[in-house]
Amino acid sequence: MRLSGPDATSIAVQLVSLRQPLEHGHARLADVLDAAGDKTARIDEALVTLFAAPHSYTGEDLVEIAAHGSPVVLELLMHRAVSLGARLAGPGEFTQRAFLAGRLDLTQAEAVRDLIDAQTLTQARQAASQMGGALSRRVAPVKQSLVELVALLEAGIDFAEDDLEVTPQAEIARRIDELTPPLTALEASFSRGRIVHDGLTLAIVGRPNAGKSSLFNRLVERDRAIVTATPGTTRDLVTERISLDGIPLELVDTAGLRTSHHESLEEAEQLGILRSREAFADAALVLIVLDATQPLNDEERRMLADVQDRSALVVRNKCDLVSCSQVENVPAEPHPSGTAIAGIPALSTSALTGEGIPALRERILALATGGAAAEPGLLTNMRHHQAVSAALAALADAAHANATAIPHEMILLDLYRALWALDSLTGQTTPDDILNLIFSTFCIGK
Ligand code: GDP
Repeated sequence: MRLSGPDATSIAVQLVSLRQPLEHGHARLADVLDAAGDKTARIDEALVTLFAAPHSYTGEDLVEIAAHGSPVVLELLMHRAVSLGARLAGPGEFTQRAFLAGRLDLTQAEAVRDLIDAQTLTQARQAASQMGGALSRRVAPVKQSLVELVALLEAGIDFAEDDLEVTPQAEIARRIDELTPPLTALEASFSRGRIVHDGLTLAIVGRPNAGKSSLFNRLVERDRAIVTATPGTTRDLVTERISLDGIPLELVDTAGLRTSHHESLEEAEQLGILRSREAFADAALVLIVLDATQPLNDEERRMLADVQDRSALVVRNKCDLVSCSQVENVPAEPHPSGTAIAGIPALSTSALTGEGIPALRERILALATGGAAAEPGLLTNMRHHQAVSAALAALADAAHANATAIPHEMILLDLYRALWALDSLTGQTTPDDILNLIFSTFCIGK
């Protein structure tokens, strides 16, 4: 149980029977006494720690009480606290108070939520770096230069009558130009940041019996999808979340794609095929599995043509059965990174022996991240992305206004818009309703 606010200490000392007085940063043993009947009867022991203002998470007096965790005892404590004048915290209220007290900026507060929600270590590291202010630090120098430019133009206006020389147009253009590249880089980091934050979907498609389920199992390293030697057994979609180098990846093993009209096709299988076409269309990444022992069929040619402009990987599976380099039907289009099938580099794998699987993992990862290396302070959040885009758009307007020799008052309006957008990132100018919306996505007690 966490209590925060000016009355936290006075409530805590009435709530439990402390064996020693509270002291900042020290844990104290206390007895939780029964309220009814024998008022001296102990029903639990608790550890009570005081973090005195301003050296606490919220910046206020904060008391943490750790009892043994019996729900009924905790409920008793909660009721007692409320009767002593406390109230229940809203979602994310502790972090919101920390933000309002200036202990965290908004990007750091949001990182607290991301850290709690992290499912892979990479996500946790990303959140921790943002919590440490990595994103704010990246934005700070841009904001500083922007403020300087604004000050320069404001001064020019204020002192216009005093014959102070106005800033030349070229100087303003140069300064605006300098602001753009770091923001553009930040905006571009969103594609990787979003993948780290949200992960992405990889659909495994191919004809029945090509080895999709077997490859899926290899990638998830568990026997989840059913593997049989009869074509068309993967009737439903099987999905699994895995972490590939910390990037959350949702694998979707689809029913074999084949031409939809087939006399012997059962209804369930038809449905599976429909779903797999949807998964194929929706997935961020596509893995096409070809059977190295079979010649390409029309459906496969169509699939290969369909993914020309998408993030796709092609594997020729069952390469343990044939010498893959001698598969006759593969059009031998030379490609710098290996053999190419219809222009897409193909990898040889064997789901049976495991050959080519590590290379496949690597390729999936490279495709997922666009080969981009991890960088500190990348954008992971749509709100941040929008703020940076808005700042860039306002700067473009300012540059345009300056180029057309519009009065400085007007250029300043655009620059202030850019500044406002950057400030909304860190929460300095974020409207209250947006703040409330952000903190409402936290869990209670955080
Ligand atoms: P799916 O219909 O595409 O999901 O194919 P499955 O994964 O169910 O595999 C069909 C059959 O091919 C099964 O009997 C597998 O054991 C076999 N198989 C899958 N991959 C390989 C491979 O790389 N080498 C060999 N020799 N057999 C494989």
